[in-house]
Amino acid sequence: FEPWNDPAAKPLIEFDRVTKRFDGFTAVDDLSLGIYEREFFALLGPSGCGKSTLLRMLAGFEEPSEGDIRLAGQSLRGVPPYRRPLNMMFQSYALFPHMSVEKNIAFGLRQDGMARSEIDARVAEMLKLVKLEAFARRKPQQLSGGQQQRVALARSLAKRPKVLLLDEPLGALDKKLREETQFELMDLQQELGLTFVIVTHDQEEAMTMSDRIAVMRAGKLCQVATPGVIYEAPSSRYVADFVGNVSLIEGVVESASNGVVRLATPVGTIESESSAPATPGMTAAFAIRPEKMRLSRQVPGDIGVNALRGTVWDIAYLGDVTLFNVKLDGGTMVRSTVINASRIAPEQIAWDEEVWLTFPRDAGLVLV
Ligand code: ATP
Repeated sequence: FEPWNDPAAKPLIEFDRVTKRFDGFTAVDDLSLGIYEREFFALLGPSGCGKSTLLRMLAGFEEPSEGDIRLAGQSLRGVPPYRRPLNMMFQSYALFPHMSVEKNIAFGLRQDGMARSEIDARVAEMLKLVKLEAFARRKPQQLSGGQQQRVALARSLAKRPKVLLLDEPLGALDKKLREETQFELMDLQQELGLTFVIVTHDQEEAMTMSDRIAVMRAGKLCQVATPGVIYEAPSSRYVADFVGNVSLIEGVVESASNGVVRLATPVGTIESESSAPATPGMTAAFAIRPEKMRLSRQVPGDIGVNALRGTVWDIAYLGDVTLFNVKLDGGTMVRSTVINASRIAPEQIAWDEEVWLTFPRDAGLVLV
């Protein structure tokens, strides 16, 4: 499923040079983006970057100051929210407290004047979908947070929208439930063949669920790509740093040829496979993920290239992995993770110990 790589495929949702200003403040800045049918798409970025505003314009709660939003080729300008074939689910769920679960789910259908028998059938179908058949008569406050979230989901799916917009839908759930619900949402989206657009500031959540992620900053898109590309080939320091953990080592390009960049850095020489437009003399950063470095107290055979010496600064045991913050000789702090593959602890590396970090040429990335 990669319609974005198919030149013949047309996006279902198109943001075409959309700008949104509030009293002179630009919340969304000349942004263009296509989202495909059946895609699970995440808008990811820090608070205030404009991701909710983008979603609210798609839903019709805000109109763009400039530009156009199209759905299946039709402009949505002037189309009120209730006439758009999409639905929005909010973080607060916005359930009616005095209504039972089934009445909450039926609410929109009643407003549309659907026949009673049809409503009953649809509500039953939705209750089954979100596995809440046994809770139909309860009031929202008699449910757990996760159950309330599922009622909200059932309610927003009851009208069978083509597109579901989710604004931080799992924000109120604890970590374990969040993770479970992420997989439930993915299964549901697959099963119903819907297009999901989700807003989140949680990179793990975006990585877990989405086909593609748009990383946003100050009203603009930084990168739009699959989770794998965003993580392994971030287009900038900002994206690298926002998604996952990354260590950045600044340096000066010594040479760049045959797809290999050689960087002189205060902590040693680094050679990295790279297609970045690097030229000798320019400054650049080497970016590497914590799991891609080998941590050892043994002095490596070749300490001339891609071998960094440092001191263990912090150790955090997380069960599956152990994190090490290592202060390199030049003062730069880098992070290395060691997978705890065996129940028997391997060589115990302790605080303040001198260690070496080594990595092959294809482990990291040169950002210019
Ligand atoms: P969060 O995760 O905190 O919701 P966000 O990325 O979703 O952040 P938006 O809610 O889209 O950000 O807001 C983007 C910017 O636009 C913010 O600086 C916000 O203060 C501003 N903004 C949003 N709505 C309005 C409004 N109705 N009037 C004035 N400013 C607004």
